[in-house]
Amino acid sequence: MSETAVQCPCGYTIEDYRNYLLLYLKKEMEEIDILCPNEYCYLRELGFLKFNVTETGEIKFKKGRFYAPFVTWNATRMSSEMTVKILKQHLIDITEKSVRWDKVKRGAISKKPESQKEVLS
Ligand SMILES: [Zn+2]
Repeated sequence: MSETAVQCPCGYTIEDYRNYLLLYLKKEMEEIDILCPNEYCYLRELGFLKFNVTETGEIKFKKGRFYAPFVTWNATRMSSEMTVKILKQHLIDITEKSVRWDKVKRGAISKKPESQKEVLS
């Protein structure tokens, strides 16, 4: 196992940020879910990213976090210090390298009230 590897409580080894699955929720929710890649995982959701959509349709990253069961699991395997360090880096990498912000932004723009009216008429 590499030095940046963590493990999901289901047993799946996550080597680095590229292993996570991302679930793009509706723009209104301003959230992206971070999932375990194991489709039989009982936890599935390991964390989330929050962002804001500004009035001009720009995306502003707000915060990212992993859920307690996932963090605690790794903290007992390594140390909480190591876990926090690795997971913090994973969040940064996911935010900077994995998330397709252009896709998020396009979704945000298409949800503007004007375009919704067009669809209805
Ligand atoms: Zn899992």
